[in-house]
Amino acid sequence: MLDRLNHLLGGTLSFDEPMNRHTSFRIGGPADALFVPRDTYELKRALKGAQELGIGVTFIGNGSNLLVRDGGIRGLVIKLSGTLDYVHVLGTSLRAGSGVLLSTLAHVAVEAGLAGLEFAAGIPGTLGGALNMNAGAYDGEMQDVVSAVRALTLAGEEVELKGEELGFGYRHSALKARTLVAVEATLSLVAGDRETSLARITELNRLRREKQPIALPSAGSVFKRPPGHFAGRLIEQAGLKGCRIGDAEVSTLHAGFIVNIGNATARDVLDLIFHVQSRVREQSGILLEPEVRVIGEDKREGA
Ligand SMILES: Cc1cc2nc3c(=O)[nH]c(=O)nc-3n(C[C@H](O)[C@H](O)[C@H](O)COP(=O)(O)OP(=O)(O)OC[C@H]3O[C@@H](n4cnc5c(N)ncnc54)[C@H](O)[C@@H]3O)c2cc1C
Repeated sequence: MLDRLNHLLGGTLSFDEPMNRHTSFRIGGPADALFVPRDTYELKRALKGAQELGIGVTFIGNGSNLLVRDGGIRGLVIKLSGTLDYVHVLGTSLRAGSGVLLSTLAHVAVEAGLAGLEFAAGIPGTLGGALNMNAGAYDGEMQDVVSAVRALTLAGEEVELKGEELGFGYRHSALKARTLVAVEATLSLVAGDRETSLARITELNRLRREKQPIALPSAGSVFKRPPGHFAGRLIEQAGLKGCRIGDAEVSTLHAGFIVNIGNATARDVLDLIFHVQSRVREQSGILLEPEVRVIGEDKREGA
């Protein structure tokens, strides 16, 4: 079936593509096939073709919030980072493709004299991934700035979401709930001052470098923030900083991060997540819920 889809898409699929090349954790077994559409038209064709042929589809952005299991991903992976990455400035709004990196988007805003996206400049994902997750940092969240999203269903049908329909909540959105692929978003910003915005971005990036292990492969904060607490602090209080399973380690700099210190497998990370959850629950009674998306299949014994 994937051969037929490949034919339909002009021979542009990469087969048995190692997903560790596409995740910030540098972890993940092979995808049966990976496709990077050049535009919305190709994206629709891929979605429609996959649906007609009964092929499962997984879509990813920059892979910065993903843990792909060691057995990889069956079916088709559609990657949107590195494509659909245009940005148009329209007065105090931006209209941008979902593949644009948040760092690029934030800097385009600043250069256009617009404020409101500084919080996002250091988040290493695409606009699409950030919309799905309602990504946020330093008191800002995507829901503060996004006014409309154009998306596709898995059948390749267009939908437009506005206001309440976007369903934003803490690390949640209607895109996530309805498995929609964002294609483009409109962001409403405010007139600002270039120098002030740049100074804010520099300051936030300094804080990140100081407090987060950004030099090591990771997927950012592993757990959601439990109401009234900080996951990192609970993990630290449970004495788990530096705790290791295989090459997966609870960061010694920020206990909310698990880092890959060499050749960690997804199994190592999942075992460490489970260990952290159990220990924190014993100590505090709080069950930490993963923020990282875990996708794909376990490796089969002997494979
Ligand atoms: C060092 C580091 C620091 C981080 N700091 C932060 C932070 O401060 N705040 C924060 O919120 N996150 C943070 N993250 C996590 C991550 O960068 C964000 O969640 C980001 O928004 C994920 O975007 P992505 O493009 O990498 O998405 P991916 O990881 O590729 O995908 C995440 C989810 O989004 C979906 N998705 C991807 N593209 C689309 C699309 N076009 N339409 C619909 N759904 C889509 C995927 O299917 C998947 O379910 C950090 C990660 C790292 C490694």
